[in-house]
Amino acid sequence: MDAKICPKTPKCPIFNGILKGTEFTETYLKLYCEAGEAGRNRCRRYQVAEKVGMCPPDILPNSSKSVEEIINSMKSAGLIN
Ligand code: SF4
Repeated sequence: MDAKICPKTPKCPIFNGILKGTEFTETYLKLYCEAGEAGRNRCRRYQVAEKVGMCPPDILPNSSKSVEEIINSMKSAGLIN
């Protein structure tokens, strides 16, 4: 896979789930998913998944929630320990 493309692309909801085909998808692609390591390192979804191995499908790349807030919500919901 092209190093510029995020390795999570095949399973990410940006492409396959609730966010597929929304008016923001192309923008997210350019800013995060196809913008190399720097791009994905800015993505909240990527940041959370790197820490705990997954990210809830409703979190956007530019989520205003912090990584810690998202992880705490996942713990509260029983998604992770
Ligand atoms: S939204 Fe984030 S985690 Fe998903 S493919 Fe794009 S950069 Fe990767």
